Amino acid sequence: MDHYDMIVIGSGPAGRRAAIQAAKLGKDVLVVERGGRVGGVSVHTGTIPSKTLRETALNLSGWRERGFYGRSYRVKQDITADDLRRRLHLTLGHEVEVLEHQFARNQVSTVRGEARFTDPHSIVVTGDEGELLTFTADSFLIAVGTIPFRPNYIPFDGGVSVFDSDEILDLPDLPRSIAVIGAGVIGVEYATIFSALDVHVTLIEPRNSMLDFIDHELMEDFTYQLRDRGMAMRFGKKVESVARTDKGCEVTLEGGRKVRSEMLLFAAGRMGATAKLGLDACGLEVDHRGRLKVDPETLQTSVAHVYAAGDVIGFPSLASTSMEQGRIAACHALGVAAHEPPEFFPYGIYAVPEISTVGMTEEEVVERGIPYESGIARFRETSRGHIMGLDKGMLKMLFSLKTRRLLGCHIVGEGATELIHIGQAVLNLKGTLDYFVENTFNYPTLAEAYKIAALDAWNRMGAGVPVAQVTDG
Ligand SMILES: Cc1cc2nc3c(=O)[nH]c(=O)nc-3n(C[C@H](O)[C@H](O)[C@H](O)COP(=O)(O)OP(=O)(O)OC[C@H]3O[C@@H](n4cnc5c(N)ncnc54)[C@H](O)[C@@H]3O)c2cc1C
Repeated sequence: MDHYDMIVIGSGPAGRRAAIQAAKLGKDVLVVERGGRVGGVSVHTGTIPSKTLRETALNLSGWRERGFYGRSYRVKQDITADDLRRRLHLTLGHEVEVLEHQFARNQVSTVRGEARFTDPHSIVVTGDEGELLTFTADSFLIAVGTIPFRPNYIPFDGGVSVFDSDEILDLPDLPRSIAVIGAGVIGVEYATIFSALDVHVTLIEPRNSMLDFIDHELMEDFTYQLRDRGMAMRFGKKVESVARTDKGCEVTLEGGRKVRSEMLLFAAGRMGATAKLGLDACGLEVDHRGRLKVDPETLQTSVAHVYAAGDVIGFPSLASTSMEQGRIAACHALGVAAHEPPEFFPYGIYAVPEISTVGMTEEEVVERGIPYESGIARFRETSRGHIMGLDKGMLKMLFSLKTRRLLGCHIVGEGATELIHIGQAVLNLKGTLDYFVENTFNYPTLAEAYKIAALDAWNRMGAGVPVAQVTDG
């Protein structure tokens, strides 16, 4: 039986970052991974594949050049599923290679197989051939992530015409039409990627709206863009049934309306991958979605030496935040002080167009009764936007009237997920409107939109309180 300082179950962003951190602190670490190769959902079925697919779709479709050459412009006329997959395999191969090298360089041990607790300090790992290996450790990190939620009423057919969000990466052909059930982040990303490939998309969502946590003014702009390019949205009606037909699938909505399409993607939720972990053996319980509860500061579960991080603990379920959680958990477990997570983290939604946001939305600012002013810039107002042929995209900032501090920054359009980090830095460093007004930005850039939006707000707020007097939010 082998003993380690720390055993990490799962090699996604949380597990990977925790293992490397523990190894850098000179500890013996073992990572257990049941998948074919290390990397987790993030590398194999989630973040990286969907972003690679998006990039490939935008490149082959000539999406970014259509502002100049018209909607019918395409770099490649007949885009096939194989075209989309080719780049995927290359990118994922590189990602795994880097990760394996990182583990080897830092002397992190890895074992392939499914881990299960047998008591609070021991696990059994079942390998591919059914062989059993037992390991013990002083502390554990559960970083097992999630699996797609697959309700019984959806007739999944093993990747023929009804897919979950893991299977969609292996789609056999590019369909002419697709229905996407679930207008959360994953559903919206895939729906808009297919729409950029000129597939007819119907997005179905039982609630009346999508992505409610995003600033509503931004969502109006986003929704307009989707409708403008012909995406159908069927919101506010529950799905009554889904049937396979000889032409694909038929979704019946509450009230009898039918949506027919060649393919269907079910992207309404994911479940913590905890069912086979034997959590009873270490005295842990999960919620109805298979998720674990932790102390948000230390990432400890109710069993002090067992930590959990990443998607298995729920919100915000991002690769970016999972990495930070993994690192904080490892530091705490090994008695090293770790910084607290910053107050505001950015959210990136890699739809077409991209959305990115940090801090408070206008709705939150109003709800909290904070006197504020907003400033907006359209990308078409920037010279860089002209050069790139952008006629859409906007950046919005919210500032406190009392202190002039930046309260929130929201972007929809090309480069949003990169641009947001300027807003994030100013926000977390408690900066004010004056930062944007007084500083020079490279020209021509899309980042110039910060200056334009700030001047928009400044024109209504005026010079106001001198910067030196600004003390609180
Ligand atoms: C389609 C999609 C798109 C996404 N896009 C983004 C994005 O753009 N940006 C972003 O920040 N986030 C994105 N995410 C979310 C991101 O992928 C997750 O937040 C992240 O992968 C969670 O990391 P994790 O460490 O919790 O574990 P995961 O990446 O989920 O990995 C968990 C690993 O644990 C292994 N495992 C499970 N049970 C066991 C066991 N019993 N024994 C051994 N191994 C086990 C699994 O095989 C898996 O490899 C996306 C997710 C999806 C599904």
